[in-house]
Amino acid sequence: MSWCGIHGHDKVLENFQQSIRQNRLASTFLFVGPSGIGKRMLAVKLAQALQCEQQNGTELNPCQVCPPCQQVVAETHPDVLIVGKPEDRSFIPISTFIGEKEKRMREGLCHWIGLKPAYGKRKVAIINDADYLNQEGANSLLKTLEEPPPRSLLILIGTSQQRQLPTIRSRCQIVRFQPLEESFIAEHLVTMGVARDEQHGRELARLADGSFDRAILWASDELTSFRSELWQVLSKGNIDANNLAKRVIAFVEAVGKEVPARRARLKIVIEIFMTFLRQMVHARSGVHTTEDAELQSTTESAVQSWQIGPETLANQIDRCIEADRQISANANISTLVECWMDDLFLQAAVD
Ligand SMILES: [Zn+2]
Repeated sequence: MSWCGIHGHDKVLENFQQSIRQNRLASTFLFVGPSGIGKRMLAVKLAQALQCEQQNGTELNPCQVCPPCQQVVAETHPDVLIVGKPEDRSFIPISTFIGEKEKRMREGLCHWIGLKPAYGKRKVAIINDADYLNQEGANSLLKTLEEPPPRSLLILIGTSQQRQLPTIRSRCQIVRFQPLEESFIAEHLVTMGVARDEQHGRELARLADGSFDRAILWASDELTSFRSELWQVLSKGNIDANNLAKRVIAFVEAVGKEVPARRARLKIVIEIFMTFLRQMVHARSGVHTTEDAELQSTTESAVQSWQIGPETLANQIDRCIEADRQISANANISTLVECWMDDLFLQAAVD
């Protein structure tokens, strides 16, 4: 399915192709752009192109079938290392870079990347979740970023340039990825069979903010009907924070026992609230900025029944952003939802 990683990023690919051909590929890159648009896939494809036994390292065109190509995808290639934030941690642990305490500097990515390539080509390390590098982790990487070993390539992947520490930013060549175009997403959702028809594809693409992952999440009927249910509750005002918290928790838990899946679902629920609150800001001033008829009628009724001012709305939006951040920091889901709902709706009731 390499198409979804590679389509829509022609400029990025062109630049890589050119520097590989001219044999002047930089050693350290920072990929930034929204999640779910193909940054990781492009990094893996790049690693493949550099390791492919059918290539001499001057074309960005991995055969995808030779043993090295397959090893890269299976994450078993001895010269390609892919690391990231473990699910149960708030940051990428420092041991990922410089090994556990008793083996400091004799293990970890920084040691590994300095070793001779086992297959004689190049060492490639991909650091996912670069948004979750803390000061300690970043410091342990600085020397490697400053003096990358010969024939090595290090790619950090994050969602935005602002979320990276300045010490990291300044030592990497930054590659910006643009969100995918709606028409492209819509078309491929139909081809993949995710969308029922073209119109469904367009609806999902509109909710996706340029991200395939998000479009696929929205393809769940369960999610769209939960959204309608929320719109109903929110349009009426007089919201019972306790009940709503229970309903949100039940919906999040219904996705299954896997914590990452629950977090992903809660993130999207938080977004539904944010979309609503942002639209409320517009609706209060009589501006209609949404093409979503259901959302528009919800906010029109809510403006009548809520009776809250722009300042409260701004605070509520901030509180949603904070809730989203708390998920990333591994907060307990039930406690998080309860406190978030209390803050949103007890506050609104007092206003
Ligand atoms: Zn190959």
